[in-house]
Amino acid sequence: MKPGGAELKWIDYSSPETLAEALSLLNEHQKDAGILAGGTDLIVKMRADRINPGQIIDIKSIPELNQVNINSNNDLTIGSAIPCYKIYNNDDIMNLRPELKDSASIIGGTQIQGRASFGGNICNAAPSADSVPLLISLGATCNVQSVNGERTIALEDLFSGPGQTVLEPNELLISITIPKKSDLSGANYIRFIPRNEMDIAVVGTGVSVTLSSNKKNFESVRVSLASVGPTPIFVDGIDKEVSGQEINDESIRVVSNMAKNASKPISDMRGTAEFRQHLCEVLTRRALITAIERAKEA
Ligand SMILES: Cc1cc2nc3c(=O)[nH]c(=O)nc-3n(C[C@H](O)[C@H](O)[C@H](O)COP(=O)(O)OP(=O)(O)OC[C@H]3O[C@@H](n4cnc5c(N)ncnc54)[C@H](O)[C@@H]3O)c2cc1C
Repeated sequence: MKPGGAELKWIDYSSPETLAEALSLLNEHQKDAGILAGGTDLIVKMRADRINPGQIIDIKSIPELNQVNINSNNDLTIGSAIPCYKIYNNDDIMNLRPELKDSASIIGGTQIQGRASFGGNICNAAPSADSVPLLISLGATCNVQSVNGERTIALEDLFSGPGQTVLEPNELLISITIPKKSDLSGANYIRFIPRNEMDIAVVGTGVSVTLSSNKKNFESVRVSLASVGPTPIFVDGIDKEVSGQEINDESIRVVSNMAKNASKPISDMRGTAEFRQHLCEVLTRRALITAIERAKEA
């Protein structure tokens, strides 16, 4: 019996060592399966009785989900179960995409980063997920597989509501691919939280920018926002507005205002909708300025 008198539910636990075994188990148990990467969201939800899986599938031992791969085109693929600390301590990843440290190093504290994966952060589908805006701004795609085959989903298209994704119950996120870094490009993720650490983003902004060869004009700008809608938001249409424009206070203001206008926040105990919209503008401006500085140094 649980404290309070509720019956304990029997839970099966498996730790498959091959992808084929994991996919077969997932296909067998579908919605009754609980996929466990780091468990820092899954276990918390189980303890709170928000989910009650009958079959835990621990994916930490599956090679494909723990690999980092850089192909001949310099596209970076990160296994979905790799914990955050391995991301920002991996020299190959940091040489190619140092900005990933912006999000990997702020998800929880050191203990959480020892377990928590980008895959879990993505599939948990919290609107506040800190890995997501930066990855969306970098044009990341999700490599998904089931017993029926493989498919690729743009990260901005993965989310269907708070805690909901478009993944089928028998699909596993295998890895995340970030396309080749362009020359003269830079990116940044920042968030606002009431405390210095270990809090949920009131607003988070991921920005990626590519500059013209003379470093004076925008070539491309992508912005994504956390915590200001039921899902992470990709701010559409920015390229159309500022591509080719000179980088100055006015063009930066255009980008940050577009982010503000794309947000659809609610008011809650962490902040009012109005405050969040204001933060969208401020954080996007700051993240954009840092991304521009990084692109100039690249
Ligand atoms: C103290 C604490 C602090 C936290 N701080 C932050 C923070 O600052 N920022 C933040 O964004 N989050 C934070 N979190 C939430 C959590 O740590 C992150 O979301 C983390 O990245 C989840 O990763 P995980 O590997 O632990 O996922 P898990 O808990 O293992 O999985 C999360 C969900 O995704 C599903 N899933 C996992 N992997 C896959 C896959 N490959 N394919 C399909 N589905 C999958 C699981 O079934 C589950 O529903 C915090 C949590 C705690 C407990």
